[in-house]
Amino acid sequence: MIKDGIFFDRRTLELRYQMPVKNIEPFFKGLEEGKIRATKCKTCGSIYFPPQIHCPRCNPGIMEWIDLDGDGKLETFSSIEIAPTSFQNEGKYIVAIGLLKEGVRALAWIDAKESDLRIGKRIRLVARKKDDAFTYVFNLVE
Ligand SMILES: [Zn+2]
Repeated sequence: MIKDGIFFDRRTLELRYQMPVKNIEPFFKGLEEGKIRATKCKTCGSIYFPPQIHCPRCNPGIMEWIDLDGDGKLETFSSIEIAPTSFQNEGKYIVAIGLLKEGVRALAWIDAKESDLRIGKRIRLVARKKDDAFTYVFNLVE
């Protein structure tokens, strides 16, 4: 179909990609073990999630791996009605930003109904297996 000069195809495209993760492998291993890992700069104490291997403040800084508790508070959220191409099969979903108790913010999908969400509610960032990979999501803590 052509509409307004744009060709629309109905074929489903499978997206496959490779991403080098050697430097942050402990992060992915942690998810497999049910842990949420971040990096912390031993020089200035800054915590990075997702983890970074260098501290932009100290450049490069001396980094160490830490386990985050996962406990935090909901700062904001947005319901995604029109998903990007790579998430077309997901249906409607909600992304949230939470301030974790370690003082670092995390962006993740939240597994909750929109009507149950309120800014400031307790949430918990947890590891989860999705399809054949591990990822992380927020759960609402009642
Ligand atoms: Zn630093």
